Amino acid sequence: MTKVIFVVCDGLGDRPIKQLKNLTPLEAAKTPNLDKLAKSGITGLLHTVYHGIRPGSDVSHLSLFGYDTKLYYKGRGMYEALGLGMKLNKGDVAFRCNLGTIKSDGIILDRRAGRIESAEPFLKELDGTQINGVRFSIKAGVMHRSALVMSGYNLSYKVSDADPHETNVKIKKAMPLDNSKEAQFTADTLNRFIDLAQQKLKANPLNKERTKKKLLEANYLLVRGAGYVEDVPSFFDKYKMSSCCIAGAGLYKGIAKALGMDVLEVKGATGTFTTDIEAKMKAAKEALKRYDFIFVHIKGTDTAGEDGNFLEKKKFIEKIDKAIKLISDLDDTLVVVTADHSTPCELKAHSADPVPILMNGPGVRVDSTKRFGERECANGALSHIVGLDVMPEIMNLLGKAQLYGD
Ligand code: ZN
Repeated sequence: MTKVIFVVCDGLGDRPIKQLKNLTPLEAAKTPNLDKLAKSGITGLLHTVYHGIRPGSDVSHLSLFGYDTKLYYKGRGMYEALGLGMKLNKGDVAFRCNLGTIKSDGIILDRRAGRIESAEPFLKELDGTQINGVRFSIKAGVMHRSALVMSGYNLSYKVSDADPHETNVKIKKAMPLDNSKEAQFTADTLNRFIDLAQQKLKANPLNKERTKKKLLEANYLLVRGAGYVEDVPSFFDKYKMSSCCIAGAGLYKGIAKALGMDVLEVKGATGTFTTDIEAKMKAAKEALKRYDFIFVHIKGTDTAGEDGNFLEKKKFIEKIDKAIKLISDLDDTLVVVTADHSTPCELKAHSADPVPILMNGPGVRVDSTKRFGERECANGALSHIVGLDVMPEIMNLLGKAQLYGD
């Protein structure tokens, strides 16, 4: 066995839900194809970073790919920027941003400017701004989202978010998070940029049009998630496997790029509920001809969890299951299905509850698990593993693990 398809269903894990007869959305969903893979494979429960850690999607993915986050995680911003195709150099500091709406007294009215269709026409005149010898590049993402990159000397990613993350509170400044001159300089320069952006956004004629149409103005840039660009060993350096990523949402493409994976663009892969999962699985199957390791990311499970919508989550899991059929009968391939964390509908947020994992392929020591579910997989032969165990387990099953000792 030489190839791997690694499917991450974002936020898949959940807790028992009363309205689903105390089953989780995954347990309640009809998933014949995932069940078949679990039944003829090996399963377990996965603590994606470590026991009791409630991870963000960025750190959990790094961990799943075998990167110790204590060494390699330097903030989310760089992955967002890479995911939007921005060029990053060592020493740059990157952020993720929202275009938001504030009132004249600086109180945040809406963190998404009324879910504005595109930030692009508002951000054009901010791109390329220079302050204190630092160049600011900004690029629009989906709807209100964008990424910002500061390029120059003496920058630090140790600056706080200039975003209180809630509405009806006052805007806040970026602050240095350590005593270094670099952190102070970065925070001061960033705050000057945010002030300038506020002036320019306020004067933008597009906002007058929005007011006329009774839409919220896009008049403030909320900046968060400072990330530092640093060299990390590539996925190929670590595992000697060529790799690619199939994802709709930018963050996952960014993580893949940071690790040197090729990002394949698949028509219909949107990172939303309407995403074409079958197209992604077909593309994954096709990619086996060119790559050894194919990472497929599916976002909708997490979105449904964050909305607290357990019926949508169950329905979306059934949609994933249908598409999984396309990769359930492959020769010479290890299929791994898991999640990056739980997003229980009850919490509408990530939790530290471990997630189910299955590995299916020739030679795998089949266990007694009959179904793919949180509680069923707790009895699987992989037992409880942590994120950094996943790649070594895969390498062992592929027969590529290095001998330890003599
Ligand atoms: Zn996630």
